Amino acid sequence: MSITQISSLGEFGLIDRLTKDVKLTQPSTYKGIGDDCAILHYGADTEIVVTTDLLMEGIHFDLLYCPLKHLGYKAVAVNLSDIYAMNATPKQITVSIAVSKKFSVEALEQLYEGIVLACNRFEVDLVGGDTSSSLTGLAISITAIGETKKGESVLRSGAKENDLICVSGDLGAAYLGLQVLEREKHIFKNAKGISPKLEGYDYVLERQLKPEPRRDIITALKRSGIKPTSMIDISDGLSSEILHICKQSDKGCKLYLHKFPIHDQTKIIADEFNVDVYTCALNGGEDYELLFTVDIKDYNKVVGIPDVTIIGNITNKEQGTFAYNTNGDAMKIQSMGWQSFKHE
Ligand code: ADP
Ligand code: MG
Repeated sequence: MSITQISSLGEFGLIDRLTKDVKLTQPSTYKGIGDDCAILHYGADTEIVVTTDLLMEGIHFDLLYCPLKHLGYKAVAVNLSDIYAMNATPKQITVSIAVSKKFSVEALEQLYEGIVLACNRFEVDLVGGDTSSSLTGLAISITAIGETKKGESVLRSGAKENDLICVSGDLGAAYLGLQVLEREKHIFKNAKGISPKLEGYDYVLERQLKPEPRRDIITALKRSGIKPTSMIDISDGLSSEILHICKQSDKGCKLYLHKFPIHDQTKIIADEFNVDVYTCALNGGEDYELLFTVDIKDYNKVVGIPDVTIIGNITNKEQGTFAYNTNGDAMKIQSMGWQSFKHE
């Protein structure tokens, strides 16, 4: 048997390979692997959506700069983001942790303070989990369960030609927040005693350390009478996510960089780091904003929703997947998202 390096497949290739023989046999399984959540049909009127995420110390978070309370909050927030990305409402979570001896009970209590804060804020019940020891560091796995009325859930696969591509909030800030934290960590490590310089970076740091799942956008869309044709949350970066929508909808897209919503502080810090701010917006990741498509007939409704920006449109598949820069030059959208296996 030949040996394949994980890095040759990447994360999505690995998932495809491992799950290629999985068959769905239960009538209640409406949608399995492949979207932000699975969808289960138990009753006549509701759909249940389920998602799970695993966060590993040293891969997804660094406790040198991520306070445990923030980590707890973020671990819940990123799961709820997947539930909202299905146009559903989160109801319960389970929390599993593996902890090494270096953690005190008080430290883990801080983690749970953040978890409970997020549960209270988003009206979600913590209903179970599992606890284990670990040889190295902390691992947190959260499963979130949500519900929606039958027919209300939104998949990645429903985008149609001419649909408007919309994004909530702004892009690229969380990535730059991480760059600031990494820079200060290195300075701190190399010259002990120098305290980190974090003033002036408040917005990008908050976006990195305390992402907010966009319940408000789901509520606003419902209030405006819009059901998106497709939706995904931005965890791996806009490029990667729009390619998921296009691939699963069998469509192409045009994105316009000059339309991208970018916070002023993000622009200033991108300059400071000498990186292109649009590259941060396209490939940065961890924005936890919603990327969705709406029928063009909903144009008037969608422009009335605060904090939503139209950044492009869906085309037919043959037109490909392109982003146009401010000069009107087209560049093919590449998935540069979170590729943990490629770092090794
Ligand atoms: P997200 O970024 O929204 O959390 P992922 O990119 O992690 O989604 O996963 C893509 C799809 O693959 C999801 O439907 C997820 O449930 C599924 N998936 C991921 N890892 C595994 C695995 N090890 N076994 C089975 N399904 C998986
Ligand atoms: Mg997702």
